Amino acid sequence: MCGVLEMSVPCARCGREYDVTLFEFGRTLWCTCGSRVGLEPRIERIAANAEVRFSADAMLGKLAHWLRLLGFDCAYESDIADAELVRRAIEQGRVILTRDRSLPDEWRVSDICVVRAERTFEQLGEVLRRFDLSAAVRLFTRCSECNRRLTAASSVDLEGRAPARILATQDPLQLCPECGRVYWSGSHTRRIERVAEQLLATE
Ligand SMILES: [Zn+2]
Ligand SMILES: [Zn+2]
Repeated sequence: MCGVLEMSVPCARCGREYDVTLFEFGRTLWCTCGSRVGLEPRIERIAANAEVRFSADAMLGKLAHWLRLLGFDCAYESDIADAELVRRAIEQGRVILTRDRSLPDEWRVSDICVVRAERTFEQLGEVLRRFDLSAAVRLFTRCSECNRRLTAASSVDLEGRAPARILATQDPLQLCPECGRVYWSGSHTRRIERVAEQLLATE
C-alpha cells in the first residue's frame, strides 16, 4: 500500500476514499453513496473511575448552571460551534451533554450523552441517574456562573462584597476566585437545597 492510500479512509459500502484529515476529532461525513463514513473505533477518552466532567452544548445552559450548583464540573459557552465543543471535550476529557440526537452519528466520540428530557430539572435528574451521581452531589462548591471551584473565605476578606448582616453571621462563606461572587446560605440556597432533595428523592 502506498503512502497516499494510507492517508485515506474508504467508505465501507462503495469504497470511495476520503482524506484522513476530514475525520479529525472523530468527525464523520456522508459519502456520496448515502452511507456514513468515519474512522473506527470511536475515540475513547475518559479513564474509568475518573471524576466525571461535562461539557454542555449551546442548548443546555440552564442544565450546566444547575450541575455547577450541585458541585459538578460543567463547561458551557452559549455560542460554541460543534467542532470546537468536541475538540475541547476530547482535550479536557469531558462528557458532552447535548440535545442534538444526530451528534453521536456526526462524531465518533464515545462520550456523547444525548439528554432526552426537555425541562431543566428532568434533564438534571436524567444526568444524575445516568452517571450515578447522587452520592457525589456537593452543593455550593462551584460557581454557577464560571464553573470554578469555590474557596472558603472569612468575613474580613469579604468586607464590602456581601451585605454586612451576612458577614456578621458565623455561617461559612464561599468565594469564587474567578468572578468574585460570594455564596452564603440564605433563602436562595435553601430553595436550591429543596430542589436537590426532591430530585434525589425521586430517583
Ligand atoms: Zn460510499
Ligand atoms: Zn464565578
